[in-house]
Amino acid sequence: MKKRVFFLLCTLGLTAMTFAVHAATEASKMKKTIGIVPVGGQISVSELEFLVQPLRETFSASVSFGSGIPLPAHAYNRERRQYLSNIVLDMLNSRVSAPQGGRVLAVTNEDLYVPDLNFVFGQADASTGIAIISLARLRPEFFGKPPDEPLFHQRAITEAVHEIGHTMGLIEHCPDSKCVMFFSNSLADTDIKGHRFCIKCRRVLGIEQLE
Ligand SMILES: [Zn+2]
Ligand SMILES: [Zn+2]
Repeated sequence: MKKRVFFLLCTLGLTAMTFAVHAATEASKMKKTIGIVPVGGQISVSELEFLVQPLRETFSASVSFGSGIPLPAHAYNRERRQYLSNIVLDMLNSRVSAPQGGRVLAVTNEDLYVPDLNFVFGQADASTGIAIISLARLRPEFFGKPPDEPLFHQRAITEAVHEIGHTMGLIEHCPDSKCVMFFSNSLADTDIKGHRFCIKCRRVLGIEQLE
């Protein structure tokens, strides 16, 4: 983690975070745009449409889709059957650039990990405005439970808002367990907190949010 000091890792049970000095309110003054980029071969724009409206409403941003990007083969760990998130973010940083005031949300169906952690739900690079989330563990099927699309969608929205929040000045996790920036120790925490920001985090972001 010494190499990329802006990375923010959000995991179940464990976290490895480093903090960056960040001008929190600068981005809030600009026109916000969020580009959603499908990453990896097993994901399409159509299955990510559910993210558009919540992200648009939450961040008062225009939301669009970018072209899909393959995952870098050298990021794959055959023994773990996971992709190394740091390498994927490096690839994204070289392939994608967020416009000024904009953010990029990469979404993959593949399971992600970083060294010393079993997996990560997502990772954000506050210096570039690029974040990635993995949908793999958000599906109940991953844990042998029946499919539940509304629950899966809600979890994905929560993780997306959380990671984008990290790129928009909310560097630290929030102590409010009902705030989307709360650190999840479990999927239950993710389900409870939902995708809304608390009033303090909204102030940092400079956004209005309908309740
Ligand atoms: Zn986080
Ligand atoms: Zn908060």
